[in-house]
Amino acid sequence: MSSNLSLLGGTPVRSQPFPQRRTMGDAEKKAVLEVMDSDCISGFLGSPGEGAWGGPKVREFEERWADRFGYKHAISVNSWTSGLMTAIGAARLGPGDEIICPPYTMSASATAAFFYGAIPVFADIDPVTYCIDPKSVEARITPRTRAIMVVHLFGGSADMDALHAIADRHGLRIIEDAAQAPGTTWKGRYVGGLRDIGGFSLNYHKHIHTGEGGVIVTNDDDLALRSRLIRNHGENFIETLGLQDIDNIVGGNYRLTEIQAAIGIAQLDRLDDILAQRRMLARHLAARLEGVPGLHAATELPGCDHAYYIYPIRFDPAVVGIDRRTFIEAVSAELPRAGIPEDIPLSGGYVKPLYLNPVYQRRIAIGGKGFPFDRAGDPAPSYAKGLCPVAERMHEDELMISFLVREPLTTSDLDDFADAMLKVIEHAPALRRRSA
Ligand SMILES: *Cc1c(COP(=O)(O)O)cnc(C)c1O
Repeated sequence: MSSNLSLLGGTPVRSQPFPQRRTMGDAEKKAVLEVMDSDCISGFLGSPGEGAWGGPKVREFEERWADRFGYKHAISVNSWTSGLMTAIGAARLGPGDEIICPPYTMSASATAAFFYGAIPVFADIDPVTYCIDPKSVEARITPRTRAIMVVHLFGGSADMDALHAIADRHGLRIIEDAAQAPGTTWKGRYVGGLRDIGGFSLNYHKHIHTGEGGVIVTNDDDLALRSRLIRNHGENFIETLGLQDIDNIVGGNYRLTEIQAAIGIAQLDRLDDILAQRRMLARHLAARLEGVPGLHAATELPGCDHAYYIYPIRFDPAVVGIDRRTFIEAVSAELPRAGIPEDIPLSGGYVKPLYLNPVYQRRIAIGGKGFPFDRAGDPAPSYAKGLCPVAERMHEDELMISFLVREPLTTSDLDDFADAMLKVIEHAPALRRRSA
């Protein structure tokens, strides 16, 4: 490894494109055709009776999902964004309530609160797990706090023991956003509904998918029933169930079609293979990066299996001697150009810490007059720059992410990726001289 850097006119490590992911196969095609032949494309009706709970494929998919992950209830929804809203409604959160949430996540983990008039309060992340830091959660608790939104970011588990202890001490609900973590375990149990309620995304980019979709999981009968009602116009049939407690039951149409559910059943059969391949690739890459000064491979907490939705690598600019942008530019020049954004081998940061977005900076969410931030007598929480220094540091300087640790890539593809990074580390002095 010593030819000059591609960025400085040398030969790149690899020019052949990385293989593309294919997600649909014969099992999905067959499943879709069966539903087409039945002509029952959706079994849902937004009125009292059997149709309130969905058609045969939806129910089969939900049963299989609940079995696979060891939960009493699985409730399918048309996206995990709808699932987050549903879970928040089911948990009886409402106007004025605060939900403590990490800022380093897909936006819906936080914005779902708005649709019930609740407010996200941001706690910092842990620089090892990239998930919400229990110490920061504790520091953000106020008399208004009702729940913690835990996001198992990139497919790694948050520190659930510490979070459960905080929730117990303060009487809070825990909602788990396990969109990126189907198959992630916390001390031998699958994350998602470890304490109260949570769930998964089935959008096209996730481990397994139904195009768009999601699944809520819980062991709590009340939260499950309320979720089913919110998913499907619960206001129309709550009376027939004899329930008196109707808060937040005004529903949406967050229903999955029979076609999607049939695809979901076939996809669920693929999950174990997908997880096994990603874990094998992740071990291989971690071994290649071990001991490399300035690069840190993804870490798993003891007893927690990572699902590797995205592969995080920590970059230490002081040790490598160049900044992250230059490093990524040089590594990218060693590798084939990506066809689609998802194939970019290495990029910097993940999302901008959410509180820096205009919705928080200007406090304009529902309507134009400041709802739900404008709470009488109580100022809105802070969304100032500097609020979550670890998230900001990861975003600006230290975190790199890769989409290469996934099927159908092989260890030899990942060797090229590792070689590219090692080559740039070796030649960092030349890049330093160039910028000097
Ligand atoms: C994908 C994702 C979501 C949203 O899921 P959709 O099914 O696209 O609505 C929410 N949170 C996280 C962490 C995600 O990765």
